[in-house]
Amino acid sequence: MAIIIDGKALAGKIRANLKQEVDELKEKGICPKLAVIMVGNDKASAIYVRNKSRACQEVGVEFEEYLLPDNIQMNQLLELINSLNQNENIDGILLQSPIPNGLDINLAFQAISPTKDVDGFHPVNVGKLSLGQDTFVSCTPFGVMKMLEEYHIETEGKRAVILGRSNIVGKPLIQCMLAKNATVTVCHSKTKDLKEITKEADILISAIGKAKFVTEDMVKEGACVIDVGINRSEEGKVVGDVDFENVVKKAGYITPVPGGVGPMTIAMLMNNVVKAAKRRRK
Ligand code: NDP
Repeated sequence: MAIIIDGKALAGKIRANLKQEVDELKEKGICPKLAVIMVGNDKASAIYVRNKSRACQEVGVEFEEYLLPDNIQMNQLLELINSLNQNENIDGILLQSPIPNGLDINLAFQAISPTKDVDGFHPVNVGKLSLGQDTFVSCTPFGVMKMLEEYHIETEGKRAVILGRSNIVGKPLIQCMLAKNATVTVCHSKTKDLKEITKEADILISAIGKAKFVTEDMVKEGACVIDVGINRSEEGKVVGDVDFENVVKKAGYITPVPGGVGPMTIAMLMNNVVKAAKRRRK
C-alpha cells in the first residue's frame, strides 16, 4: 500500500508558516496584497477564486477582486492590468483563466509586470525558470516539487515521466524536475506506447484531465504517483487522472484528489505573493 501524500495537511502547514512571516512584515508596515481579475462567470473559476480569497484571509494577505463582464474589450482588460501594475500597494496580480474567447490570454499574461506575476506565467519568468534563475515558479509545479521535498522523495538520477505538456503544468514541471537532476520524459496526446514509458517512471506525474486514465498496469511497483488532474466522475465526484483505488495498492507514494496537489497550488500562490511583497518592498 502506498504512502498517501497529504497535500491538505502540508498546505495548512505552509499557510501557518506564511502567516507568521506576514505578521512580521506587517510589524514593519508591509501588508502583502493580491489582486485577482476574473472575466465572465465561469463556475469553476468562481470556486477557485473563492478558495484563493480564503487562503489570503488565513495568511493575512489582502485580497482584491476585479470581476469583469464577459463582453469586455481587450484594451479595457489591458488598462486594468496596467493600473494594477502601477499601484504601489499591490504585490501580486493574477488573471484567472479561462477568459472568454476573443480575448488574448497570452497578451494579457504578458501585460502583467514580471515583478507582480505571482502565477509565473510571464515569458520573462518562464525564461528565468528554464535558465535556472530565481523567479516565480508557477504554483502547481511548485506545489508538486514541494510535496516531493517534504516527503523526502529522491529525484536525483530518477526517471520522471510527466503526462501533459501545458504551459501552466507540464512544461514548467520539466524545468523543475531537471533542476532536481531527474531524467525527464514528457508525454502528450501524440505519444506512442504510453504505457511502456509510464511503467519505467520512478516518479509519474499526470496532468492531462481525464478521469481514471492512469491505471495500475501503467505504474511501476513502488513508484511515486502525483495526480494533478481535476475531473468530474460519472457520479459527479471530483476525481483525478489516476485510478486511485487500484494504483494505491501498487505505488510507493500517491497523492489523493481532492486533498493532494489542489491545496498545495493555492499554498504556493500565497508563498509567491509574500515573496513578491518582500522583493518589491525590500
Ligand atoms: P491542458 O488541457 O492544457 O493540457 C492537457 C495535456 O494533456 C495536453 O498536453 C495534452 O496533450 C495531454 N493529453 C490529453 N489527452 C492525453 C492522452 N490521452 N494521452 C497523453 N496525453 C494527453 O490541461 P492543464 O495542464 O491545464 O490541466 C491538466 C489537468 O490538471 C486538468 O484536469 C486540470 O483541471 C488540472 N489542473 C489542476 C491544478 C491543481 O491545482 N490541482 C492546476 C491546473 C490544472 P496535447 O498537448 O498533445 O494536446
